[in-house]
Amino acid sequence: MIRIAVVFPDLLGTYGDGGNGAILLQRALWRGYDAELLQAESGTALPAADIYCIGGGEDGPQVRAARELIDCGDLVHRVSDGAAVLAVCAGFQIVGMSFPGSDGANHDGVGLLDVVTHKGDGVRAVGELAAEVTEEAHWLLAPFEPPVLSGFENHGGRTALGADVVPLARVAAGVGNGDGSANEGALRDRVIGTYLHGPVLARNPVLADRLLAWALDVEALAPLNDEAAEDLRNERLSLVGQTTTKRRSFRRH
Ligand code: GLN
Repeated sequence: MIRIAVVFPDLLGTYGDGGNGAILLQRALWRGYDAELLQAESGTALPAADIYCIGGGEDGPQVRAARELIDCGDLVHRVSDGAAVLAVCAGFQIVGMSFPGSDGANHDGVGLLDVVTHKGDGVRAVGELAAEVTEEAHWLLAPFEPPVLSGFENHGGRTALGADVVPLARVAAGVGNGDGSANEGALRDRVIGTYLHGPVLARNPVLADRLLAWALDVEALAPLNDEAAEDLRNERLSLVGQTTTKRRSFRRH
């Protein structure tokens, strides 16, 4: 049984990232696995799960969500026991070390990723985002071949990476982390942080399969017919001059 939890949909449901949970559930069921999707509302005990999906939201609810996750401590414990996390936008900032609230003051993050978010220059990063998975992240995500990642972004925060994480991808179109580097997202162990909405797993099903394989502790998964997702990717990526096929080949050294 794979348990998938969408964390605080009542606080972090603004950008449709709860869809990531639905995609994980469906891809597990299509392959004949037993799976359950839990909507983990704030103010209740965080359920035990194999994969936690944390979505985007406004600055105020984001501060509340971080406070609650820090106070209960369960997310950190479950990750140290092997649970995987997909954290998007506000979620990415929340699982980092600190981020700005609506008042501009810094607030503590959960500390699962060595990243720090600052308030940007006042201009929100809004629009299509395309990014190529980095060589470092490629090895951590293996054997799932991540293509050019596609999504949309909508954030004011700018996120700088520390030494304990690797960048998930390099921006080909859009802003991404926006800290002056071309980085998009961050990765450490089984924790993926990204600015990609979409939901990101609808646009990039290979990432869903990476998370499921971690949860199932398997090396490979039966292929699925992803034509619909490929059509969506082609349509979205072509808008920003990218193609799905562009892919560097990495060699071990
Ligand atoms: N409130 C955060 C920011 O603007 C996150 C936004 C989001 O989750 N889309 O940076």
